[in-house]
Amino acid sequence: MGKRLPNPRLAKIHRNYTVEETANLYEVHKNTVSNWIKQGLAVCGKKRPFLIMGRDLRVFLEAKRVKNKQPCKPDEIYCMRCRAPKKPAADLIEYKATTATLGNLVAICPDCESIMNRRVSLAKLKQMPCYLSITQSLEELHITECINPSVNSGLNIGEEHHA
Ligand SMILES: [Zn+2]
Repeated sequence: MGKRLPNPRLAKIHRNYTVEETANLYEVHKNTVSNWIKQGLAVCGKKRPFLIMGRDLRVFLEAKRVKNKQPCKPDEIYCMRCRAPKKPAADLIEYKATTATLGNLVAICPDCESIMNRRVSLAKLKQMPCYLSITQSLEELHITECINPSVNSGLNIGEEHHA
């Protein structure tokens, strides 16, 4: 946590690097570079010494950076008290719409029982594994909260008055 990631731009796109050179370049341990390879960093050839394309290094480290900015997996919410992403039980997640397309996921941390919040768009929400159980509670809310009126149009709650 809090460890700064190496600057991807240190690698020259048209150069090849051995594991050792890569470690020196980014001032990390050789084991770290081996881990990167295990995590999917592309190497040339199947046997040691591996050669790593500078271009691949950049791509890999850039992707790692982006990932680090979003520590939560799709079904996790960051708990401020535990200071870690937590995976609440699906039946503890609630979606509170703030606009027609945006809202907050509200859940209880399974470890410390404090309230966790995560801003999410409705579109994103639909990609979440927990979506199904959330929509169940959404259906209970649909008339009063009116999250997405078009979804409710089949329910005949008197919205057919287009003049
Ligand atoms: Zn917690």
